[in-house]
Amino acid sequence: MKYHSTRGDGTSHGFAATLLAGLAPDGGLFVPERIEPLAASTRSDFVGADYATVARDIIARFAAPDIEPAAVAASVDRALSAFTHPAIAPHKQLDQDRWLLELFHGPTLAFKDYALQFVGELIEQQLKREGRHATVICATSGDTGAAAAAAFAGRENISVVVLHPAGRVSEVQRRQMTTLPHANVANFAIDGDFDDCQAMVKALFVDPEAAALNLTAVNSINWARITCQVAYYIWSSLRLGGGGPVNYIVPTGNFGNILAADVARRLGFPVGRLVLSSNDNDVLPRFFETGRMERRETRQTISPSMDIQVSSNFERALWFAAEGDTTAVTEWQRALTEDRAFDVDTETLGRLRERFSAVRCTEAEALEEMARTWRETGEMLCPHTATAAHAARTLDLEGPVVVAATAHPAKFPDASRKATGHEPPRPELLEAVMEAPERYRHHAADAGALRDLLLEETQA
Ligand SMILES: *Cc1c(COP(=O)(O)O)cnc(C)c1O
Repeated sequence: MKYHSTRGDGTSHGFAATLLAGLAPDGGLFVPERIEPLAASTRSDFVGADYATVARDIIARFAAPDIEPAAVAASVDRALSAFTHPAIAPHKQLDQDRWLLELFHGPTLAFKDYALQFVGELIEQQLKREGRHATVICATSGDTGAAAAAAFAGRENISVVVLHPAGRVSEVQRRQMTTLPHANVANFAIDGDFDDCQAMVKALFVDPEAAALNLTAVNSINWARITCQVAYYIWSSLRLGGGGPVNYIVPTGNFGNILAADVARRLGFPVGRLVLSSNDNDVLPRFFETGRMERRETRQTISPSMDIQVSSNFERALWFAAEGDTTAVTEWQRALTEDRAFDVDTETLGRLRERFSAVRCTEAEALEEMARTWRETGEMLCPHTATAAHAARTLDLEGPVVVAATAHPAKFPDASRKATGHEPPRPELLEAVMEAPERYRHHAADAGALRDLLLEETQA
């Protein structure tokens, strides 16, 4: 498959280039040249297939011809060995029509493992083929940093550098990032907030003096991550739908997870209505109501991985809805950066509303949902998942409704205690994390100083 930019610099790129670069050279996001429904006979081959079969096939389609199917298959099998549930992404039935899709059986107990474990394998193999070294760098508000550190720890030809805002991630989240013993993992607690960390990463990417670090971005705009996530929507929709469409409600921040569901639907799989849920940072629900995207101040909530005002993958949804009008996409993104807002035309908004709906869930509603689900079903929900479960209860959707359970509740024990009076049982994986010594350094929110430090350590 060939890829080009949502902002239309006119060049096309292979999968390997999108894997290692993350962002297109013109600042846009990579999108496939086309996504068409698979032939019915191909799709029926997936019915009853296990997770590994679906993942191997679908990733190989997007990675061809750069990466051989056999190499993809080997990477998928190694990645899957890090997951603890035999079904990988099991369903749990809540009541007659509502289900959870548990996406927290990877090493860091959040859905990001379902992409980053695979991307870690793919990047390591690609760097070996190209005979070079790279530094994976990411800014995190919590879950991405842990998943990236776990995905790249101990790999050849790769160093990983994670920046987190000092004092603004949960203790579990911090420990997951800082207790890995591997020499190729570095973690910095930055004096600032998540936006400061993100700004440092962006500054390093355009800094010519940082070129020797060979920086690679694995934030959620990396197309390969979306590809890996398509697998669980295909697998889930075929398991639950019995041929009919399955509706999904997805707790959303950067719009990567729900976009993967839309890709599964574009490939012809039985994905029905797609509903995104947000917390009090309701920039997307407001957009779907009015057609105006307007950034406001980010509010700190009990669901920190959704505390976002700029939903970076939404650029891809806009590109699809504007039918590939790269001039319009470029202008909207410019306005969002410079004027903090943009408005779309009614046709584009109409096409987006045909594919997605958006609902907000207040903090009080999320806590109430956590309490009620626990009372009625015995299930603890993480505070992100609760926003979607709330929507599943209140919306009137036809057919099965699946709530994407994006993190294990034990990552957020304070929220569970507040909602239910109890802490969720801690999976064995976390016991070790809570005991192990931590390793991280404090650093000022100064990209130049960090670059000098990293260069010095690379040369040493
Ligand atoms: C990252 C994350 C989200 C948001 O996912 P996006 O793909 O950014 O929309 C939701 N819930 C949890 C637990 C997360 O870690």
